[in-house]
Amino acid sequence: MTRLLLATRNAKKLDELRRILGAAGVEGLDVVGLADVTPFPETPETEPTFEGNALAKARDAAKATGLSSVADDSGLTVDALNGMPGVLSARWAGRHGDDPANLELVLGQLADVPDERRGAAFVCAAALVTPAGAETVVRGEWAGRLTRQPRGRNGFGYDPIFQPAGEHRTSAELEPAEKDTLSHRGRALRELLPRLRELAAGAIA
Ligand code: IMP
Repeated sequence: MTRLLLATRNAKKLDELRRILGAAGVEGLDVVGLADVTPFPETPETEPTFEGNALAKARDAAKATGLSSVADDSGLTVDALNGMPGVLSARWAGRHGDDPANLELVLGQLADVPDERRGAAFVCAAALVTPAGAETVVRGEWAGRLTRQPRGRNGFGYDPIFQPAGEHRTSAELEPAEKDTLSHRGRALRELLPRLRELAAGAIA
C-alpha cells in the first residue's frame, strides 16, 4: 500500500477521492487526510490562479510529510463579473467561509444582469506532487448559470444559486452522489486518475 495524502480536513473530500479510486478500480493507495499526519503549517491561498494554489498546497504537503500529496483549490467564476469571485470565492464578502454572505453578495451584484448574461462555472484545480518532485496539475470545470433566488438544501457555498447546464435544478437540489458525478471537483479528480494509477503501480515516486 502507498499512502496518499489528500491535503484537506474535509471528510467528504476524502470519501469522494476514495469512491473515485474505487470506481476506477485503482487499488494500492491508502488515502489519508491532514488529521492523519503530523500537523504542519497551512499554506496560505495567495496565488492568482486555482492551479497555483493547488500546486503550492500539494508541494508543501509532500515536503512536510514525505508522502505523495494531492491538494485542490476551487471556486465560482461568473461571466458578468469578469471571472470573479474566482480564487477569492471563499472570502468574497470579506470573511473566510461565510457562505450565506458570499452568495447574497453575488446575487446582489447580478441583480440587473439579464438571464442571457448570467453564465458561470465552478472550477477546481487539483495537483499531485510526489516526494521525488513529480508534479501534475489538472482542472475540472462545471458550466451553468446563476439563478435569481437560492434553491435547495444540499451542498454548500454557492450551490443554491448555481444551475448546471442542462439542469432545471440547482446544484443544491441534486443528490450528493449526482453532484459527484458532474461536479468540477469530481472531474478534476478523475483527470488525475492516470497519474494515481501509475503511483499505485509504483511507476512514479
Ligand atoms: P475551497 O477550494 O474548498 O477553498 O473552496 C473555495 C470556495 O469556493 C468555497 O468556500 C465555496 O464558496 C466555493 N465552492 C467551491 N466548490 C463549490 C461547490 O461545489 N459548491 C459551492 N461552492 C463551491
